Amino acid sequence: MCIFCKIVNGEIPNNTVHESDHFLAFHDLYPKAPVHVLIIPKNHVDCFQDVSPETMAGLTEFTQEVATKLGIDKTGYRLVTNNGKDGGQEVDHLHFHMLGGGKLVWDHHHEDPHKSL
Ligand code: AMP
Repeated sequence: MCIFCKIVNGEIPNNTVHESDHFLAFHDLYPKAPVHVLIIPKNHVDCFQDVSPETMAGLTEFTQEVATKLGIDKTGYRLVTNNGKDGGQEVDHLHFHMLGGGKLVWDHHHEDPHKSL
């Protein structure tokens, strides 16, 4: 069972922000911004590439609720999902990083982005 499934079933503790029947939002253990929350479907889906439009529809509303609850719905935030190896995904259970609480830098490229692949 994956680490986020263990969080969903209570085997691993988490700092919950918001919860519904189908989704869970909890604080990231190693925050990269003043607000850094992970938003996941409770049912295991490996990654964004595998998620259904139906799940995403519910996740949209849930994500908006999380932002409101955190008080960053007006100030803004970044929503990121790392998909697969090149995307830097480390936990193979679909999750969206919600980052905010301050002005964020835009600096994702490990290597020169203009370098040809
Ligand atoms: P990613 O690299 O996109 O797969 O992101 C995985 C994220 O999960 C990282 O930001 C980790 O800090 C976070 N993480 C790993 N284990 C836990 C945990 N037990 N509770 C909260 N966040 C975690």
